[in-house]
Amino acid sequence: MKRIAIDMDEVMADFMPKHLKLFNDDHGESITIDDLQGKKLRELRSDHVEQLANYLRDPSFFRDLDVMPDSQEVIRDLYEHYEIFITTAAMEFPTSFTAKYEWLKDHFSFLNDLNFVFCGDKSIIHADYLIDDNVRHFKRFSGQGILYTAHHNIHETGYPRVDNWQDVRAYFLGS
Ligand SMILES: [Mg+2]
Repeated sequence: MKRIAIDMDEVMADFMPKHLKLFNDDHGESITIDDLQGKKLRELRSDHVEQLANYLRDPSFFRDLDVMPDSQEVIRDLYEHYEIFITTAAMEFPTSFTAKYEWLKDHFSFLNDLNFVFCGDKSIIHADYLIDDNVRHFKRFSGQGILYTAHHNIHETGYPRVDNWQDVRAYFLGS
């Protein structure tokens, strides 16, 4: 069986709406995803980088993120044909471990705990494919990077791109 590694934030978990709402509410702003095409919020508001990171250090931040549409059904189907590992760069926010683990158990209970990889540098991951929204993880990855579209990566080229989970299904399982 070939092995697929899958990122969590902005791929399985809809991270951005909550992060944006916290920032907007605290600053009386109304930034939308449309304002963030081709860039990250910390680039648009570079004077608030530390506060933006602090939202993510809240141990509960990752606990109630919405599940990306169709990700549960598609991952369940992939699971029959591929070895699936969930690979999240959790060392960036070590306080997120418990919330991320509980979120996975809630929404992806059919996956085995031993296939969850909370890691630092993803270049250690040995898989045939990595589905991720950050191209930096592909640079030293030995398998095929699959870029999951997010507002910040719309200008990236050089990798197969999927816009949603139906695209993931088509890429790996045909239509
Ligand atoms: Mg991500």
